[in-house]
Formats: sequence, structure tokens, C-alpha cells
Amino acid sequence: MRRAGSVVAQILLEISDLVKPGATTADLDLFAQTRTKELGAKPAFKGYHGFPATLCVSVNEEVVHGIPSKKRILKDGDIVGIDFGVVLDGWFGDSARTFPVGKVSHEAEKLLEITEKSLYLGIEQARPGNHLFDIGYAVQNFVESHGYSVVREFVGHGIGKSLHEDPQVPNFGIRGKGMLLKPGMVLAIEPMINAGKPEVRVLSDGWTAVTVDKALSAHFEHTVAITEQGPEILTRV
Ligand code: MG
Ligand code: MG
Repeated sequence: MRRAGSVVAQILLEISDLVKPGATTADLDLFAQTRTKELGAKPAFKGYHGFPATLCVSVNEEVVHGIPSKKRILKDGDIVGIDFGVVLDGWFGDSARTFPVGKVSHEAEKLLEITEKSLYLGIEQARPGNHLFDIGYAVQNFVESHGYSVVREFVGHGIGKSLHEDPQVPNFGIRGKGMLLKPGMVLAIEPMINAGKPEVRVLSDGWTAVTVDKALSAHFEHTVAITEQGPEILTRV
């Protein structure tokens, strides 16, 4: 899983250089597909329940599961969430980042900063002896203190020989509740945070989730192993 995670991390890092005004979301997808093959892995999302692409690319009020398109041209001031997973030798890695495109508003910049911070606060809880919902509590408590809201319909997940395994890892919850965390568990922790209200709906393409109030949304994710020493982030370069 370290190897799968490092492929995901490397390609997401390379993609960050391509996120600029004028690029299409299909350009990013093609790059990811090519690089995944070059690094000896396979895309985890393509074909998953029929998803048609290597990346999920979600712009502005899109929360998750946006489908890359030649028609979607990134413009200055957008924020773009890129969610990416691979399978390598039967093991999965899954990570997401939300990038600013060119110069973004102060409001957008702050949403990205708080969402990324909430991911790391959640990860910090992924250690033996803690409970599963300590993770969601840490995320929710932090983002709500900044006036943001947590998406309820989509959650993080266990990951290993499948992309999505038990348990579900919500980004909300009560401290001290949920299963006891043990060394050897691997979780994909992935806060999806809205600048406005928490409600989302899925567009008629059957995939793209958007905020109902059309406010901005951000998404950050890492695959995290729970070790005796604490959390180990597997999707880091
Ligand atoms: Mg993901
Ligand atoms: Mg995930």
C-alpha cells in the first residue's frame, strides 16, 4: 500500500503543475491516465460502478465525482478538486487535493486552507486506542468553528485490497464513539467541506455532486495507515 500510495502522491504532485487557466479537465485526466500506466499501476476509479475516467475533477460548487470533460475549461479564480486512486499489485491508494486556479478570492483561499487543516486534524486522531468517530469529531469541530459545513452524504472509508472497504469514516461524529482503532487498519480520510450549507445533490449525469446552495466546496484526502507509532500517511511523496 505504500507503493500504491506513493504513485498516487507523485502523480497528484505532477498534476498540480498543469492546473492553470485554459487547461481542460480532460487534459488533466489524460495526463493522469498516461502517468498511471507509466508507473506500472492501474486507475482505481475508471470503470468503478461505471465511472468513465481516471480522475474525479470537481470545480467550484461541485463537491465530488465530477467527470472530466474537454468542454470544461479551467479559468482564473476557480478551485478544482482532484480525486485520484490507483491499484498496484492488488493494493489500492486514494487521495484528493483541491487546487486554486490562478488567483482565487480570499474566501476560496480560506476554504482550501481550513479544509486541508481539518484533514490533518482528522489524521492526527487515527491512532491505536482512539475511536473511529474521534476522526470525524476533530474535522467537524474545526470546520464548523470557522462557519463551514460538513457534507453528510459522502464519507471516507477503509481501503486495502478494494477501493472502498468497511468501515465508513464520516467527517462528523461524537468523540469516543465508533470502533476502536487498531494497528494495521488503513483508512481513506477525506473531508468534503462546504462554504455554505451542508446539502448536496447529484446532477443528471448521475455522478457530479454539487452544493444545493451553489456555494464553494473543497475536498482533501489521504490514505492513512494506523501504526503502533500513530498515523502514517501513505499518499505522500
Ligand atoms: Mg478519493
Ligand atoms: Mg476515497
